[in-house]
Amino acid sequence: MPDKTLWDSCLHFFKDSLPPQQFNSWIKPLGFELKGDQITLTAPNSFTLKLIQDRFLPEITKRAEAFLSSPPCFVLRIGKKAAAIPARKSLAPIVDTVQLTPKVQKSQNKLNPLLSFDNFVIGKANQLAHSAAIQVAESPGTAYNPLFIYGGVGLGKTHLLQAIGNHIKHENAQAKVCYVHATNYISDVVRAFQTKKFDEFKQFYNSLDLLLIDDIQFIADKPGTQQEFFYTLNSLIDGHKQVVITCDTFPKEISGMTPRLTSRFSWGLTVAIEPPGLEMRVAILLQKATLSNNPISEDVAFFIAKHVRSNIRELEGALKRVDAYSRFHKRAISVELAKEALKDLLASQNKQVSIENIQKTVADFYRIKVTDLLSKKRTRVIARPRQIAMCLARELTQLSLPEIGAAFGDRDHTTVMYACKTIENLRNMDTVFNANFNLLNQTLRN
Ligand code: ADP
Ligand code: MG
Repeated sequence: MPDKTLWDSCLHFFKDSLPPQQFNSWIKPLGFELKGDQITLTAPNSFTLKLIQDRFLPEITKRAEAFLSSPPCFVLRIGKKAAAIPARKSLAPIVDTVQLTPKVQKSQNKLNPLLSFDNFVIGKANQLAHSAAIQVAESPGTAYNPLFIYGGVGLGKTHLLQAIGNHIKHENAQAKVCYVHATNYISDVVRAFQTKKFDEFKQFYNSLDLLLIDDIQFIADKPGTQQEFFYTLNSLIDGHKQVVITCDTFPKEISGMTPRLTSRFSWGLTVAIEPPGLEMRVAILLQKATLSNNPISEDVAFFIAKHVRSNIRELEGALKRVDAYSRFHKRAISVELAKEALKDLLASQNKQVSIENIQKTVADFYRIKVTDLLSKKRTRVIARPRQIAMCLARELTQLSLPEIGAAFGDRDHTTVMYACKTIENLRNMDTVFNANFNLLNQTLRN
């Protein structure tokens, strides 16, 4: 098979013709596999994939044509560099390796009754996911199947998933409901294989009325589990049994997941949960405080919500600290008390960085003028530092997206959002870029 030579020749060519940074960011991470006349190129993310397709594929094709007897056919995919997951050849399951603790039992129906729709606060950030979850809970198997909920940590994915389960159990005590975290599902697959109890395993999962599987990203790079899950998913959906899946990213962005599975994920409905805005954070705090029998005023809620912005879990953590502090000192909760209770947390945030300082530092670093950053100029040498500065302003100041947009020559908040996303992608892909970004970040913090 000439694939090594073919790919070596491509690597040589790009190494000579591209600046090292580009070669290292775009070409080096690519996976290459040749089978017959089919070439599979695996890129770490959709951004690189698109870039390879647009900029480098013609050259690779040219070289491949010289090597192969017939014109090559290309498969471009997102995933880890390792070879693509092989198609199922025999019925023998591929076994994934996981550390098994002997105690882990088959994870059945672990519903937490405290996570219900009743105590789930709805806001702009989660209303779509919430209403999809309600629909699925009210007409399982017929509304959206599967329902795929994705979003960052601590934003309420598990809560919604459990709420669906609790609702269905409440409506119909006979319903066979299983909540399983993906890591436990992996253990189940492995154990079934080790103990040769695959039939039992299959029978259990295939007989469910509702399967709630949490954090599916954990089965990435576990081809055996993916294969089993693919069958389970198909069997349940074909039988009009409801499946709800949560994940930390959009289906197509999960690397190391077989495309047949990610495309299956998108057959039903895919909804995002976003980080909550200020008002929603306040509403959540007010509700949680009421439930804990130590209510707080709106002032206090605003105070905490302004300082804890990342996610709902952290918000709860901060509230618990305030609550414990108040009980311990036998003092009612006030803004003053919250300030004391959250002293450490606030100290780490209090190093206020001004947006002017960010603009000046970034402009100096890239040897451009601050006025350029604020101007309408859109050339790369100016637009990229502008995006970096916007992203740093998002991270280091308490300003809202519209406020940041306004500080950069009256731009829209969506421009700021786009800038943050672009910078995040670049940081993931380009180590030099990421190092520069971190350097700027540190310089500003100190
Ligand atoms: P995820 O699974 O997305 O990481 P969780 O569902 O575990 O997040 O949520 C983290 C914590 O925040 C949980 O205690 C959950 O009850 C709470 N929570 C999340 N979203 C909401 C909400 N909209 N209303 C009330 N509590 C919420
Ligand atoms: Mg969770």
